[in-house]
Amino acid sequence: MVNALPPPVLMNDFVAQWRAVGDEVLDAVRRVGESGWLVLGKEVERFEADLAARSRASHVVGVASGLDALEIALRTAGVGPGDKVLTTPVSAFATTLAILRLGAVPVFVDVDATGLLDLTLAGEALRRLPETKAILPVHLFGHALDLDALESLAKATGVTVLEDAAQSIDARSRGRAVGSVSLAWASSFYPTKNLGAMGDAGALFTDDDGVAKRARSLRDYGQTAKYVHAELGMNSRLDELHAAILRTALLPRLSASTERRRAIAKRYRDGLRNAHLSVPPAPPGSESVFHLFPVLVTRGHREAFMKHLQAARVGSGIHYPILISDQEALRGAEHVVVGDLTVARSFAENEVSLPMHPFLTDADVDRVLATCNEWRPEGT
Ligand SMILES: *Cc1c(COP(=O)(O)O)cnc(C)c1O
Repeated sequence: MVNALPPPVLMNDFVAQWRAVGDEVLDAVRRVGESGWLVLGKEVERFEADLAARSRASHVVGVASGLDALEIALRTAGVGPGDKVLTTPVSAFATTLAILRLGAVPVFVDVDATGLLDLTLAGEALRRLPETKAILPVHLFGHALDLDALESLAKATGVTVLEDAAQSIDARSRGRAVGSVSLAWASSFYPTKNLGAMGDAGALFTDDDGVAKRARSLRDYGQTAKYVHAELGMNSRLDELHAAILRTALLPRLSASTERRRAIAKRYRDGLRNAHLSVPPAPPGSESVFHLFPVLVTRGHREAFMKHLQAARVGSGIHYPILISDQEALRGAEHVVVGDLTVARSFAENEVSLPMHPFLTDADVDRVLATCNEWRPEGT
């Protein structure tokens, strides 16, 4: 009799999600099919309205991805070829890709101990590069950056703020919703995100009527009226299917999922007892939604730690192993690196993300904890 392997603890569990929401997804699909309208229709409008109401943004514009939402946000802020945009080197590549796709120039500033953009260094960089057109910080890991500090920085320098909230829908900073100090902010509904669609989708959020109008035009070839094209737009239309599924099957569960993520994060924090693993702090005032649960491993031992997790059938990830400024794709693209990005590099070298999704049971979390706590780096 061989020992049965324990079931894997996954980084994401879309099969468990289907068990929970499948019937409602199928209802949404039927509703769209029966309506006879498939792209940019009533379902998209209703999803946008529901999302606007809960996020307290005046307008939500549904688009095809988080990347497109960022690109459109930058365009509505007037960012174009040669314009500098300050951002973080620790993020999904899409944050910088949106800047580069416009021919603009990313300016990379180091992160702080939280792993998110260091707003003090960002302020110094903006004073040294006053021509910088916009700042695009990322609410990484589901944390909210300090919005009071971000707002002061914007007031002091006059820079336009846009926020990448792809990982942090519903996160708050001292009660203020992410996005509230921006001209426009972007979120992603990529399946792994806190509000994940069954495919690709994203949205731009804004309180500015003009920005919303322009974004609606840009997502649809730059049309201002049927077959009338005021400028060169893109095809970033949102499908009725995605909007319908998001609105009636997934959005109603977002608050409960966020509460579950918070409970899991607390259980991890309370239970982690290993001097070789540390949990980076959240920014001051952050009411986090825990898209990810990052830990930092003692330098030089990350690979061994991940192998240990794998042997115990515990999933893990790295967010992110290569700084964006070090990516090969950046070699031919104009960009600015401020300082030596020391803290960002330590995240790239030592970060590991533990399993974090709303379908984890307490027993799963306890198994992850026991696996973490029993681990010792070789030679210690
Ligand atoms: C996922 C993500 C994006 C891009 O979203 P897509 O929908 O995949 O295009 C941008 N920024 C961050 C921080 C992300 O996590």
